[in-house]
Amino acid sequence: MSAWEHRLSWPGVAGGFVGRSRRPRPGGDDPPDRLQAALAEMGAGRSLVEAEQVHGAKVARVTADMARGAGRVPALPGVDGLVTDVPGVALAIYVADCLAIWLHHPGGPAVGLAHAGWRGLAADMPGSLVRAALRAHGGGPEGLRVALSPCIRACCFEVGDDVVAAFEHIPGAVDRSGELAHVDMIRVAMRQLTEAGVPGERIEVMDGCTRCEPERYASYRWDPERCGRNVALIGLA
Ligand SMILES: [Zn+2]
Repeated sequence: MSAWEHRLSWPGVAGGFVGRSRRPRPGGDDPPDRLQAALAEMGAGRSLVEAEQVHGAKVARVTADMARGAGRVPALPGVDGLVTDVPGVALAIYVADCLAIWLHHPGGPAVGLAHAGWRGLAADMPGSLVRAALRAHGGGPEGLRVALSPCIRACCFEVGDDVVAAFEHIPGAVDRSGELAHVDMIRVAMRQLTEAGVPGERIEVMDGCTRCEPERYASYRWDPERCGRNVALIGLA
């Protein structure tokens, strides 16, 4: 069985989405089996670089000094996104209903990865990831490729007034037809990415609602105690 639920198909890039794994404890245990298997398929000897994930929109650049040789690097504090042009690095983001956003900058060449739940989207994390990649590695947004992970989709993402208020200015983002409002995080991210200059046809959306498919994906809303995490990975091939 493949470790991956989805693989990225971009030339020069390795990575994808691993369902139902977990985040290894800081400084502690080894990555669990499915994550380990996915990393092995990306090529032995990579540094595994993680973000602290604080539901913000800051992005860190991962340099060669920070990632030397195989093994886990302590998570970069205070950020939810990472960009790098260093070969031999595997960037990792852990999600359970939140969205993971992959970025490929063929001109760098460079790759990026970010975590965005509703708070990250309210802070325009998709746009921040695009701008951070261009700031660090030059070029324009028209050449980028972006992919959006399975997440809790509009079918299941029932929200309160605070979340509605963050997104009601975006056409189609909020559905008020039912008893509780629903928010479409994919719609929000698409809008923010295109506003940042990424052409719509260069944005891929992986199918799957985490809450609808708990046998495939970790979903916090399905079971906050035992859900574990899905893992998004990317590196230069
Ligand atoms: Zn659903």
